[in-house]
Amino acid sequence: MLLLRSGLWAMESSSSWGCNSYLIDDGRRVFLVDPGPSFQMDPVARELRASGRSPYDLTDILLTHYDQDHSRSAAEWRHRTQATVWLGADDAEILRTRKVPGPWFRRCMMALLGLANLPQGTVAMRGETVIAPGLTAVPSPGHTPGHYAFIWHDVALIGDAARTSPDGGLVRFKPRGLATDPALADRSRHALANLPVRVFCPGHGPVADRTKE
Ligand SMILES: [Zn+2]
Repeated sequence: MLLLRSGLWAMESSSSWGCNSYLIDDGRRVFLVDPGPSFQMDPVARELRASGRSPYDLTDILLTHYDQDHSRSAAEWRHRTQATVWLGADDAEILRTRKVPGPWFRRCMMALLGLANLPQGTVAMRGETVIAPGLTAVPSPGHTPGHYAFIWHDVALIGDAARTSPDGGLVRFKPRGLATDPALADRSRHALANLPVRVFCPGHGPVADRTKE
């Protein structure tokens, strides 16, 4: 685990086939952000143990969106730890198979990779949601309809709302063809870029610190 700021770590077992996972510990609750695909579960649990924690210390699992490379292991984590899972309501509807995933490019990938199971007892978020003191979920739709970013003090964990650039800024997520609504994704990216935060933690690629140039 790589310490990014007090109470926030990047998990180092993320792979190019999975996503970046992050851990937040506010001293009362322990949050795992985007646990990733099934094969990322054991390496993340090993990292937690190596840091002196138990995987059973998890109290909450925060999902930026429903794509399986971010969310697939969430149902199993929930089953084993009873942690509360948080996901945007519009993405939860897709995992409930009440809405069809879009666009066609994602549907093609889903035909290969399948859809994650909706974890039991998932809290389906609508609008800005305070999850804990200093930790707020902010809607950032476009990549998926129910995409969220999580703001932890001066850090934004942005999932696939954008990718980071070497100068600490945000650029379009690629492949762009995955976006359910590309114009809305652009608006969400601009809104995130204007937040008064110091660090962006993306779902893929490097963390960006805009105080270091
Ligand atoms: Zn995605």
